[in-house]
Amino acid sequence: MRALGRKSQEVEAVRKHELTEEQVVRARMLWSLAYTITAITCALGTDRRETRFAVNPQAIERERLLNAAWVALHEDEIRAHKLEYNKENKDKFAACNAAWRKAHRAQVASYQSVRRARVLGSTVGDRAAIAEIYRIAKEDPQVRCYLCKKRIPLGDRHVDHIVPVSRGGATSCANLAVAHALCNARKGASLLSEISPVQRALWGFNLA
Ligand SMILES: [Zn+2]
Repeated sequence: MRALGRKSQEVEAVRKHELTEEQVVRARMLWSLAYTITAITCALGTDRRETRFAVNPQAIERERLLNAAWVALHEDEIRAHKLEYNKENKDKFAACNAAWRKAHRAQVASYQSVRRARVLGSTVGDRAAIAEIYRIAKEDPQVRCYLCKKRIPLGDRHVDHIVPVSRGGATSCANLAVAHALCNARKGASLLSEISPVQRALWGFNLA
């Protein structure tokens, strides 16, 4: 077998977790020093070796391994720091999350629907098509209820499984439709064929 170069040996040692903390720290320091010097000389136009760091897969791999080794050696410290950081910024993160959810209501609803469907064992169809139905339900100015065929104002729209999940219905473009919250509640877990003419007349359902 070909003898490994010094750097390759170092990479191997890091991979096998044979380097001590001191060695990893030193290797990372030397690495960043070499990187900085190269960056400066590149910026000054006296060195064209930027590709050595930018596209050399071996160099990238070495940096990655050294970083991974450092992270492995400081696991507890990093975890404690993360916890502390999250605790300090809890309110900020919550506000940021809430703002994002508010601005992406359709996406959030689509994601929740797919997650629920998975939990209930429903077959999940094309995600983009499902997301589009939720986008229409949340944002489209004019949507008609698939049960009563009347227009549904924004905020009163439910995305319904035509064949309910509890009856084996898939979460897919073909089995999802938008309905009034009330129409959806009235239909419940019934199949369309199970809704009697009396119920249809009473609830104003317009099922062809
Ligand atoms: Zn309706």
